[in-house]
Amino acid sequence: MNVPSVFALLKVGFGPSSSHTMGPFFAARDFRDLVASRGPARGRLRVILLGSLALTGRGHLTGAAVAAGLSGHDPDRDRPVSLPEVAAEVQAAGGVSVGGRWFAFSPEQDIAFDPSVEALPHPNTLRFELLDDEGRVLVSEEYCSVGGGMVVGGSFGAHPSLKGRFTMAEVLTDCQKRGADLGGFVRENERQRGLSAGEIEARLATLWGAMRDSISRGLSTRGVLPGPLRLARRAPGLYEALQEREGIPLAREMDLVSAYAIAVAEENAAGGRVVTAPTTGAAGVVPAVLRVLQEALALPDERIHNALLVAGLIGLAVATNASIAGAEVGCQGEVGTASAMAAAAACYLLGGDVEAQVDRAAETALEHYLGLTCDPVYGLVQIPCIERNAAAAVAALHAASLAVLCRGEDRISFDTAVAALAEIGRDMSPKYKETALGGLARLLQHRGHRGSSLYS
Ligand code: SF4
Repeated sequence: MNVPSVFALLKVGFGPSSSHTMGPFFAARDFRDLVASRGPARGRLRVILLGSLALTGRGHLTGAAVAAGLSGHDPDRDRPVSLPEVAAEVQAAGGVSVGGRWFAFSPEQDIAFDPSVEALPHPNTLRFELLDDEGRVLVSEEYCSVGGGMVVGGSFGAHPSLKGRFTMAEVLTDCQKRGADLGGFVRENERQRGLSAGEIEARLATLWGAMRDSISRGLSTRGVLPGPLRLARRAPGLYEALQEREGIPLAREMDLVSAYAIAVAEENAAGGRVVTAPTTGAAGVVPAVLRVLQEALALPDERIHNALLVAGLIGLAVATNASIAGAEVGCQGEVGTASAMAAAAACYLLGGDVEAQVDRAAETALEHYLGLTCDPVYGLVQIPCIERNAAAAVAALHAASLAVLCRGEDRISFDTAVAALAEIGRDMSPKYKETALGGLARLLQHRGHRGSSLYS
């Protein structure tokens, strides 16, 4: 059994898309390092975005992300600015400095969009080139953004860091044998991978802090989301309305969890700082469910940290046995996985036993998302993504509650649901895999604007 690190899946990043924004950003930074180590003294940089990255890249800020990566921008170190601001600075400068050498680069002219998906190693492929004055290619590298901000190619190598081999059935058997719970199992796995107990705790505290911050920012930031939809943020008004309402017939937690999920999803849509869980497009589900349970049950942070480990394990099971990339398997791999992660974490917090209930909660949540398409309007991570986060958070609480309350034999295991997700993903038409060519995207966006929307 080879269980990857949950910290390869759960990461602090930025929106609006882990596969279309974060991954290309990391790939650009890697190519910059390559140019620094073996590039000539001068030249022009060029980027070709292929497949899904070309079709929905503008809405996902892919061009701005690669410009920021090539410029050497470091979101942890540098003054916090938006990716479009960094790209505008590069455009105004006409190039980037790499190791004291100057390379011409215009994000508006030197980023090409090639939507053909045939013969690509992955639907999210991008190529970087360094050209001489005659247009000859001096250095080139191809990368694939394989989901959750992970990249293949260049110094990242041939396999994403999430490559592993395990099933939840194996994990549960191991837990039963050792008398460990799922949180303890994941902690032990991280220790075997070289992290000390203190390092694990520090990373969990950072992740939970970033999740809480993204909810708070989303609840207090008003205005309109970037892009041609001119979508107004709803989380602050929704939250305020909930504070004022009394005697509502529906459970208050259901409305609250929606407000929290929408808050994070709107932050993500605005390019804000969120945690990949498992991706940024689906980043609202897990924090919303954890916060609502922490408040309702007065849980200490340590319990939430353990629940995060359980959520991460469920995400890893999908990532290693199927996919968490909308461009590969549709939204079932993103929002569906997020709902399963949150359901497992919620069940764990509600006292679900290791053998059956946590697995059942994750399966119940995922089962209802099998076949869910990825059809973002204008290629933006707004419609249907934001409301899908809210619905998936409610579904997660429902699945956790059912798993705890219902007894009896489980007919479908989580592993089986994951295998079904992989099969459905393989059979799904490319129109429904983050290309904005079908479904809501095709029906709602104005013809002539497909894939060409720009954040304003
Ligand atoms: S529809 Fe789902 S998979 Fe597609 S961009 Fe939106 S959240 Fe991501």
